This record gives sequence, structure tokens and C-alpha cells, in this order.
Amino acid sequence: MPVPLSQVARIGAYIAGKHFRGVQRYPLVLMLEPLFRCNLACKGCGKIDYPDSILNQRLSYDQCMAAIDECGAPVVSIAGGEPLLHRDMPKIVEGFLARKKYVILCTNALLLKKKIDSYKPNPGFTWSIHLDGDLGMHDQAVSQDGVYEVAVDAIRMAKERGFAVSINCTLFNDADPERVARFFDTVKALGVSGITVSPGYSYERAPDQASFLNRTRTKELFRGILSRGRGGKEWPFSQSTAFLNFLAGNKAYKCTPWGNPTRTVFGWQKPCYLLGEGYVDSFTELMEGTDWDQYGVGNYEKCQDCMVHSGFEASAVTDIMNHPIKAAMLSLKGVRTDGPMAEDISLENQRRSKDVFSLNVDAHLDRMAKAGNKTDRHVEVN
Ligand code: SF4
Repeated sequence: MPVPLSQVARIGAYIAGKHFRGVQRYPLVLMLEPLFRCNLACKGCGKIDYPDSILNQRLSYDQCMAAIDECGAPVVSIAGGEPLLHRDMPKIVEGFLARKKYVILCTNALLLKKKIDSYKPNPGFTWSIHLDGDLGMHDQAVSQDGVYEVAVDAIRMAKERGFAVSINCTLFNDADPERVARFFDTVKALGVSGITVSPGYSYERAPDQASFLNRTRTKELFRGILSRGRGGKEWPFSQSTAFLNFLAGNKAYKCTPWGNPTRTVFGWQKPCYLLGEGYVDSFTELMEGTDWDQYGVGNYEKCQDCMVHSGFEASAVTDIMNHPIKAAMLSLKGVRTDGPMAEDISLENQRRSKDVFSLNVDAHLDRMAKAGNKTDRHVEVN
């Protein structure tokens, strides 16, 4: 677990408080996307396909602080786009740390060498470096040669300067379990304090639609990986063993989309970090105005292959709270990687996908125009 003990205690107390008060829906990690602009164009990314006037927008420092004050989550994960392109990012990180939040700053590391002097090591702060596998895997995933080497150099540099460093790794359908296991050995040897791993979500706006994993392939892949690492105990995963157990197909969870509420330049995103089906102005509107039963595996076609940590880690945490002894035994033994898999949720009655991308973009451009901002209405349609 890469989170320092003081933070674990704070987050644990927060979860236990909600649990014992019987609060059914509460946020665990604020997913903040203060900009969509990126300096890479990864083949599996569905987050940057916007007109320039939207890509040029930034959430201000005040908007970022208002987001955490509104939702009250104990952890903030700053993603994007590429957060290091945001001029005020060091101030935003400091603002969250001053509020005693645990801050994870995600980056592809291309700008880290140039920007690192603006940040200070802090027990509540972790760099999360994007690394989707070894040199061949990562450079292919980000559609650019040389990025793996830059990211690995950045990990070494940040560690030398006393920062906590983790990696976030998204896997696609060409991932080979043996190769992924050896990659995890490599990053462990680099001294990263955490590995966050997930199957890629099949973003409808991603340029490469052929590389996403379906549920069965995801479970098989994770069994293959974890069997090469003592059921997951070999590597310093940032995620709970219960979530890894879910990825290996030993448990079926419904997702917990409100566990990682998402604030972008559009507003609060409905229903989750992965799906942008609509936007509202306040966290309260998100929590109270979303028809949660419309979403999730079995409810909506766009959810059918989702097993991403932003949707299911909070489900695993709830399971741990409800069955602490079972969870402790699982952590001790590691994840089972053979035998029958748990029966998954039926997709029989799920509703069909709705294409809402253009509606969302148009609505946001309208708002920008009303506020007196210049807009370009040209949107590429895949
Ligand atoms: S399954 Fe849940 S977390 Fe995944 S895309 Fe659907 S609503 Fe979001």
C-alpha cells in the first residue's frame, strides 16, 4: 500500500464513519480533470477528442478547491488531459494538501523534469506515472517512441528527490501475462510504492476500438498475471486484494460510480469517470439528480465490459467493510487464479447505448458562448 499510515488512518476513519452512519452513497476519490488538453494522443484514450476552444479551457484554482470542498472526498486524483500543462497545478496541489487531502497527480512524465522544482515531497502527495507496460507495450499504447524511457527516467528522478512515486497501468487485449508480470518486476525494482492496474475502458471516442478487452478476456488475463506473482502478493499494488480478486473473476461486483465523482471543465460528470452522459453544476445535483439504476453492468450497453478501478474499487471497499475477516484472509492468501469463476451479471436486459457526445459538446459550447467566450464548433466525428 503506497499510502502513508497517517493517510490510511484518515481515509479508514472516513470510510468507517460513513459505513457506521449507514450512508449509502459517498465519494472516496475526487477525479479531477482540470483540463482535457494533452501532449500525447494515445490510441486508447477517449478524453481528448474536443474542439480547441474546449481543449484550451482550464478549471481555475478556485474551481478545483470548490470541487473538493463540495464533495469532501479524502483523496483527490488529478488527471486530464495532462495536468502538468496547467500553469496553476503546483498551487492546486498545495491547496489540496492544505485541506489534508491525499493527492495523486497523474502524468505521462514528458514534462516532469521541467516542472518538478515547483513541487515539494509531502507524505500526502504521490506522483502517478502513466506506464502501460514495458518499452514496446508502452510506446505502442501512447503511439509515440521514446516515451517509456522518459517515464522511467522521471520515476528515478522523482524518487531521488524524495517523492512517493507510483505507476498507473492500463492493459489492452494484446497484453501477454508473462510480459506484464516481468514488467511489474521491473517497476518494483525501480522502487515504486504502488501499481494501479486496470483493463482499458472502451471509450467510444478512442481512435483504436479494436484493442479493448471484454470481461472474459480481462478475467483470464488477470488470472494469468497474478498466477505469476503469488496471487498478486509479489507486487506493491495500490488497489485492494478484493479488487484484484474481482479482476480475476472470483467475485462479481456491481459498480459504485459515485465512489469516484468526476469534475471536469464541463461540470460534474454523470454518472462516472468513464462515462460522460451529462453534466451538472453541483456535487449535490450529481448525487441526488442521477438515476443511478440507468448505469452499470447489466443496465447499460456502454458498461458491459467495464471492470475499471474507478468504478469498482469502491465496491471492493464496501465488501471489505462488510466482510473484514474474509478480506483479511484474502490478503494473506492472495488471489485464487484457477478453478471456476463467479457467475457474472446478466446483460440480457441492458438498455442500448445512446450517443450523447455531440449533445454534451454543443451544450458546453453554448454555455461558453453565452459567457462571452470564443468557440470553434468544429468537432471531428469518428
Ligand atoms: S460500469 Fe459503472 S463505472 Fe463502469 S462505465 Fe458503467 S457506470 Fe461507469
